[in-house]
Amino acid sequence: MAAMVVAALRRGRGGCSSRVFAQSFRRFASTLVVAEHEGGQVKPSSLSALAAAEAVSKENKISVLLGGSGPALHKAAEHAASSHPLVSEVLIAESDAFAHPLAEPWADLLRSVQQKGGYSHVIASSTSFGKNLLPRAAALLDVSPVTDVTAITEERVFVRPIYAGNALCTVRYTGVDPCMMSIRSTSFSPTTTEAMSETKVAPITQVDLSFLSEGSLGKSAWVSLTSQDTERPDLANARVVVTGGRGLKSAENFKLLEQLAEKLGAAVGATRAAVDAGFVPNDLQVGQTGKIVAPELYMAFGVSGAIQHLAGMRDSKVIVAVNKDADAPIFQAADYGLVADLFEVLEELLKKIPDKK
Ligand SMILES: Cc1cc2nc3c(=O)[nH]c(=O)nc-3n(C[C@H](O)[C@H](O)[C@H](O)COP(=O)(O)OP(=O)(O)OC[C@H]3O[C@@H](n4cnc5c(N)ncnc54)[C@H](O)[C@@H]3O)c2cc1C
Repeated sequence: MAAMVVAALRRGRGGCSSRVFAQSFRRFASTLVVAEHEGGQVKPSSLSALAAAEAVSKENKISVLLGGSGPALHKAAEHAASSHPLVSEVLIAESDAFAHPLAEPWADLLRSVQQKGGYSHVIASSTSFGKNLLPRAAALLDVSPVTDVTAITEERVFVRPIYAGNALCTVRYTGVDPCMMSIRSTSFSPTTTEAMSETKVAPITQVDLSFLSEGSLGKSAWVSLTSQDTERPDLANARVVVTGGRGLKSAENFKLLEQLAEKLGAAVGATRAAVDAGFVPNDLQVGQTGKIVAPELYMAFGVSGAIQHLAGMRDSKVIVAVNKDADAPIFQAADYGLVADLFEVLEELLKKIPDKK
């Protein structure tokens, strides 16, 4: 054992030898999951991050980090405390500095919590917030993050898509702790409520925020949030998505898709061509530069099936495509394809599908 420790210390660079030393004695994974919350609940994408932590190791000790202020934070912390059997503690950073997803104060928070906790892994979901935060925090901790992980085969071996999802790459993380990664929530199913019935509730602890200074607030400030007032499900987590492409021809025609979405309890998505044409706002874009979705049912109307669009929806369980061009590439990805005029099909569907009760 002594020889192994000496070898490990020799391999370490100046300044990080203690980290390497700690690593050679570490027996079990311990993971910090950076969680997002809304309305007093941990968001589904963060519950997927907990499932990813379990995929790292069944014996993982998971700490959940939540930030913000007010009663919603405490409610979300209670939710987090019983959200997964492996959660051993919930850390709350109660300050207005963390009430909004600003990467600068959050990166400082993450660095401070990691330095105190010495976790082997840090996991966040590949949301806009996670993508913004993780590289910044990784730079502060002097490690390289692994992004967009879709499968975990060993504690430090991960699968991630490359070339817009056309190839899957298996990577081994060989750096020092922490191994930081963002995960695609569509690839990790959250633990079901039934599996939680026996769970004990994890303790909730306040994070020491003495590190916070004017400097941690950074150069960005929260201005405002504009969101659609809709009862429809969130695009990234919806069970059914109906997507329109350039073939819809106008913003007015997109209302037909919205009516179908109402009937199916679905979210509406769009291609970049439809967004660029101004038919719908860009938060509906699905694809390489939009949202990644993997619903039970994905219905594409007037979508050609460009590689960049497929990158965002090819993992959907059932894909239905309606296109008047029999050679459209979308049919190669579709489980069910209909060569037809989308307006005729939409009219018929709207007539035949009853309104949602
Ligand atoms: C770097 C980069 C990133 C990109 N990121 C994304 C991304 O994230 N998401 C994305 O979607 N795209 C993205 N794109 C753009 C992508 O390459 C395509 O241009 C885009 O997806 C095409 O959108 P579309 O299928 O709506 O339009 P088109 O390719 O024009 O297809 C329209 C389809 O509608 C059909 N159609 C027309 N009228 C009817 C009708 N009446 N009935 C039935 N069918 C009809 C046509 O046959 C055609 O197949 C990206 C491109 C680049 C270069």
